[in-house]
Amino acid sequence: MFSIWEQETVLAPVDVAIAGGGFAGFWTAFHLRRRYPKARIALLEKELLPMGASTRNAGFACFGSLGELVADEAELGTEGMQRLVEIRYKGLRQIEKWFEPKCIDLDWCGGYELFPPGSVSKEKLEHDLDHINSTLKDITGKRRSFRNATGRIHRFRFGGTEHMVFNRLEGALHSGKLAALLLRTLQATGVQWMPGVAVTGFVEKNDTVEIQTAAGFQLNARNLVVANNTAAASLLPGISVTPARGQVLLTSPINDLRWSGTFHADEGYYYFRNLGNRVLLGGARNKAFDAERTDERVTTSLIQDELERFLDEVVLPGKKNTYSIEHRWSGIMGMGEEKGPVVRAVRPNVFAAVALGGIGVAVAPEAGKRISKMIQL
Ligand SMILES: Cc1cc2nc3c(=O)[nH]c(=O)nc-3n(C[C@H](O)[C@H](O)[C@H](O)COP(=O)(O)OP(=O)(O)OC[C@H]3O[C@@H](n4cnc5c(N)ncnc54)[C@H](O)[C@@H]3O)c2cc1C
Repeated sequence: MFSIWEQETVLAPVDVAIAGGGFAGFWTAFHLRRRYPKARIALLEKELLPMGASTRNAGFACFGSLGELVADEAELGTEGMQRLVEIRYKGLRQIEKWFEPKCIDLDWCGGYELFPPGSVSKEKLEHDLDHINSTLKDITGKRRSFRNATGRIHRFRFGGTEHMVFNRLEGALHSGKLAALLLRTLQATGVQWMPGVAVTGFVEKNDTVEIQTAAGFQLNARNLVVANNTAAASLLPGISVTPARGQVLLTSPINDLRWSGTFHADEGYYYFRNLGNRVLLGGARNKAFDAERTDERVTTSLIQDELERFLDEVVLPGKKNTYSIEHRWSGIMGMGEEKGPVVRAVRPNVFAAVALGGIGVAVAPEAGKRISKMIQL
């Protein structure tokens, strides 16, 4: 039995309960607090120390590389691709609007994409650049978001690279600092942070959502936002989110690292950046799609060996003896049935902000804003 003090404070009914303490949940709470300064908002997170994708990613502040967007357009059509870019681009603008860049190590360093020999002709690349730039003009407000940077390849000394494209609107940030700062901001404005509380189900009764938890109590809310990434289907059976593991490695410091910035290859399936004078490299999921469709948070030799090969042959050719691999980790992305995120009302008082995909750092701020506008208190 809970005491009257508990029932009238931490367990008292709330206006909005959010299940999931990653960027989707944080940004939803952030925008709800802005719209409703006095609302009671509770953020329920399954783990004591959240280890979702939000603090296990690569920290790219990006909206998709040229090669990835060309592939997206082929799959989703022009409008589908534009919708993806729009939500990501608006999200990036929000991150820089609400937080001091230096507090989250946000650096608009610009991003590059590498194309290996024979992967795309010069003519096709020029066509793609013109086409994607004009398709994105109204979203980014720039005539040329992407430009040909093949002439700069020699500066980087990458291996196996025939063409390069530069996107000046891309940057890098520190995901851990952004998550910590968001959480501190939320707590300072009275959002109730409840770690170690897994939501196991809910029942709607009139205007109340009775939320069941694995922590031995029930919380009543006027609204529930499900923001638990790949676990969405456990609470919302109609929504399917497929797990996609992303694996990463980080090198030891490299004495004469000649470049900084963010880099993509193979339609975004490979990505690397500098972290000071270390190299963070991730991806290669396309080498084992089936095996990586899992929510097991481990690394595997298949993917890690492939990342090491890429590091040796493309990123740091001829330097293998000068560095070691200091860290390896993985995180789980949530993929929706279509490539875009699921950001919508599921029932009158139940909302979903899930399936943020592989560019969810950028998607989350705008997803949270959209959810906050759907909720009327
Ligand atoms: C290796 C890797 C690299 C990436 N790189 C980038 C990048 O460079 N740039 C970029 O934009 N994006 C990147 N992403 C994608 C991005 O990190 C994700 O899209 C984003 O963080 C998803 O946020 P989320 O809040 O939806 O999920 P999460 O961060 O996973 O948060 C969901 C939370 O819900 C909790 N939860 C689960 N079930 C319950 C429950 N029943 N009750 C309560 N809580 C629950 C979980 O514990 C978790 O903390 C990368 C992802 C990975 C894995």
